[in-house]
Amino acid sequence: MAKAIEIEAARREVLARVRLTATEEVGLAEALGRRLALDAVAEAPFPPFDNSAMDGFAVRAADVAGAGADSPVTLAIVDESRAGHPATKALGVGEAIAISTGAMLPAGADAVVRVEDTERGSAAATGPAGAETAVPVQDTPRGLAAARGPAAADGGVSTEGTARGPATPRGPAGADAVVRVEDTARPATPSVPVADAGAPPPSSAGTLGRVLIRVAVAADANVRHAGDDIAAGETVLRAGAELGPAELGALATIGIDPVPVRRRPRVAVLTSGDELTPPGRPLGPGAIRDSNSRTVAALARLAGAEVVSVDWTPDEPEATRAALGRALGADVAIVCGGISVGEHDHVKAALAELGAEEVFWRVALKPGGPTWFGTRGEALAFGLPGNPVSVMVTFLTFVRPALIAMAGGEPTSRRTTARLGAAYEKPTDRAHAVRCRLELDERGWVAWPLPRQGSHVLTSMLAAEALALVPTECAGLAAGDTVDVELLDRASMGR
Ligand code: AMP
Ligand code: MG
Repeated sequence: MAKAIEIEAARREVLARVRLTATEEVGLAEALGRRLALDAVAEAPFPPFDNSAMDGFAVRAADVAGAGADSPVTLAIVDESRAGHPATKALGVGEAIAISTGAMLPAGADAVVRVEDTERGSAAATGPAGAETAVPVQDTPRGLAAARGPAAADGGVSTEGTARGPATPRGPAGADAVVRVEDTARPATPSVPVADAGAPPPSSAGTLGRVLIRVAVAADANVRHAGDDIAAGETVLRAGAELGPAELGALATIGIDPVPVRRRPRVAVLTSGDELTPPGRPLGPGAIRDSNSRTVAALARLAGAEVVSVDWTPDEPEATRAALGRALGADVAIVCGGISVGEHDHVKAALAELGAEEVFWRVALKPGGPTWFGTRGEALAFGLPGNPVSVMVTFLTFVRPALIAMAGGEPTSRRTTARLGAAYEKPTDRAHAVRCRLELDERGWVAWPLPRQGSHVLTSMLAAEALALVPTECAGLAAGDTVDVELLDRASMGR
């Protein structure tokens, strides 16, 4: 009899024969659980523009540098920037623009003061003495911004100050000079908002009122910059990535819909055995319920496959061959039972007659020894031993990695290490996959072998949270020894 192959070598043999499924496009709304066929690259930065992290007022940090709880700075509100509705005005010296979270930072602004740190309306008139303190305007003479007129162009316009481009405190858009306030006379109803040392700023006409700023903010305060999250040209997700909620959101963020994904591998499930009876039919003498049809189909779906058929064959050569012939039309045929050496096990012979080429038969693994793997054309065929636990363990060990790899995913299993809670002894003829429950103590994970390890005890899979892998050559482990464990988690087991 052929020597059994070790688990890792068997898995390598399987993965070496995997072919990627074709690419197809699906709507983002239907793409949960699919795998990306191409890298997802952002064309534009996200966020696409500098915007506010808070509801408040967009300001020039330099204007409010002297503001404090008892010495607020008054700014004229000249516009509003709402989410989806940017301000139409640029921010000038001594001005504020009301802004909502996520709204575009107006030109000329370099910081946002939270609404909680401000007071709006006529409070300036009755506020503390400082309320009417002049807005600090750095080196720029206080006055009215004007189009080039009597003053020399650029006269009095500061170009010094803050760090970022748009925030450099130039005058309002369109202005290129400042006329000193002393050189002006104000009409009774000012038409231009102005920060004024001698009187409260205008409260209505030509403005949206005024706001008292009660804190100084640094440039960039409460500002989210364009590209903070995603840079233009950035690869956000790699081909093969499985699309969960965060991935779907990231694809939406960069504007990808529909999305190129791998076609789900098509899986045919076949159970074999005269004794098998589906739920709902009376059990004849010697008959048992067929559970593998359900466990294997569900495991395949959780691995990203489309289950195209779930069939059954009695233990007869002809029927077995016919059913297997149909199953081999899928990308992956999984036949459960009838693969061993019993007189009524016809699967191996039928596979050979159908032209399937054996890659391995018998793995050094318990449960799951007589596992068969081969190919016919591009189809992969797995013959899994029929015991309900064997079928699940061998599916998780060999079939699941293949299905993930076919859709472009990383087939590495979800492994970690744990300390064994109790001693475990075994002969050195093959590796054991020991069903365990996991416990976390102060030193990390502890794997406790479940009491009933029989390959027919399907209910042991209900409590199992991990398979501890005790290698072939290992004669046993003491309590506290470190062991590799494969997690039976939501990804693989659905809970
Ligand atoms: P076999 O691999 O056909 O020798 O079957 C091994 C054991 O698994 C036998 O006890 C079968 O009755 C049992 N078995 C096989 N197929 C199934 C199935 N689909 N559901 C539940 N038990 C099964
Ligand atoms: Mg059988």
